[in-house]
Amino acid sequence: MTTECPFESNVIDAVTDGSWTESLRVHVASCDDCAAAAEVAPWLTRFAGMDERTHVLPDPAVLWLKAKVLQSSAAVERAALPITRLQIAAYLIIAAGWAAILTWKASALQAWINHFSPGHLILGATGAESTSLSLTVLVAIIALASASVGVAMHTILAEE
Ligand SMILES: [Zn+2]
Repeated sequence: MTTECPFESNVIDAVTDGSWTESLRVHVASCDDCAAAAEVAPWLTRFAGMDERTHVLPDPAVLWLKAKVLQSSAAVERAALPITRLQIAAYLIIAAGWAAILTWKASALQAWINHFSPGHLILGATGAESTSLSLTVLVAIIALASASVGVAMHTILAEE
C-alpha cells in the first residue's frame, strides 16, 4: 500500500461512472492494485449511497470531545489519588493524636474542663488548679484541633 498505482483513482472513477477506456481495461488486467480497486469500488459506491444505515456512526467531533473528556477525567482521578491517600493518612494521624491525648491526659482534661465551670473558676483564680493542664498538652490539643479542621476543610474543598 506504500506505492499506490497512479491509475487506481481512474479505475475507481471508471467503475463508478462507467468511463472505461481500452487502455484502462488492459492496465487493470495486469495490475493487482487496480484489479482489487475495481473489485471493491462497486461495493464502496453502494455503501456510500446507502441511506438506511442500521448503525448511525457518531459525529467524529463528538467522538473526539468524548475522548478528551474521558482523558481529562482520568487525569483528574490519577491526580486525586495521592491526595486521597494523604487525607486518609492525615485522618489516621489526627485520630491517633486525639486518642493518645484523651487517654494520656483524661484526668487532666477533665480537670481543665471543670476549670471553666463557675464553681471552679473561683478555685482556679486562687491558683489551686491553674497548673492542671500543661502548656505542651494545650498546644498539642490546639494543633490537633486546627489539623482536624484543616483536613476537614481540605476534604470538603476537594469534593467540589
Ligand atoms: Zn494500476
